[in-house]
Amino acid sequence: TIELTEIRKSFGELDVLCGVNLAVERGEVIVLMGPSGSGKTTLVRCMNLLEEPDAGHVRICGCDFECGTRRDRGRKRLEQRARRHAGMVFQQFNLFPHMTALGNVIEGPRQVRKLSDAAAKELGERLLDRVGLADKSGEYPSRLSGGQKQRVAIARALAMEPEVVLFDEPTSALDPELHAEVLDVIQSLAREGMTMVIVTHETHFAREVADRIVFMDGGVIVEEATPDVFFTRPSQERARSFLRLVD
Ligand code: ATP
Repeated sequence: TIELTEIRKSFGELDVLCGVNLAVERGEVIVLMGPSGSGKTTLVRCMNLLEEPDAGHVRICGCDFECGTRRDRGRKRLEQRARRHAGMVFQQFNLFPHMTALGNVIEGPRQVRKLSDAAAKELGERLLDRVGLADKSGEYPSRLSGGQKQRVAIARALAMEPEVVLFDEPTSALDPELHAEVLDVIQSLAREGMTMVIVTHETHFAREVADRIVFMDGGVIVEEATPDVFFTRPSQERARSFLRLVD
């Protein structure tokens, strides 16, 4: 579904991604872990071209991008397709404050997928129900808790019918007692076979939900393993010392 080859990205002098290779298969749940600053957020943002790598090759749902080359109109269209196929859920929710929960969920389907108002509303209500917010469709974000906002953001991502959903630390802006309601929704998507890449520091959740843990440090992938192997007997010392800190 997504294939990254030799991805490099720098911000000024800072080399954040230093040659990353990663393939995300259909139906797979990958949890991306690693110390702060190791490049996890930058990497998931590259997976739908919110961030453009300086070099390397990105293949997203059948579209190919040679990074670091000239941008033209055809490329803009490809970027839009990439964003549609790879939906994103952000740390800070990024809901539109002037739209209701339902309005947030149906904006994309109406504008981009060109659904009729009635079809978009039906889809939006179904998705809000799926994330446990059927009764909040008319509320504005300012009247929702953080956990509810994040669940609206998940419904909004799903409304585009993406092939893969990318989560960037979906619970890190939430009070601890609100983590479970968001993680439960992500877990249920995993059970339904949704392809997902999740950046998280929640080790217990990672262990439950991941098919594969990808551990990054210093802009490279240091270790990839099943959760069972990663959490009990990681092969790399850097992974071992990371786990000592987070456990
Ligand atoms: P965390 O767990 O703290 O979110 P991370 O592994 O997700 O960390 P990134 O957010 O990808 O790491 O950031 C990697 C490095 O790149 C950091 O040093 C960060 O300050 C820097 N960085 C990220 N985005 C930008 C940007 N737009 N401009 C300049 N520097 C950036």
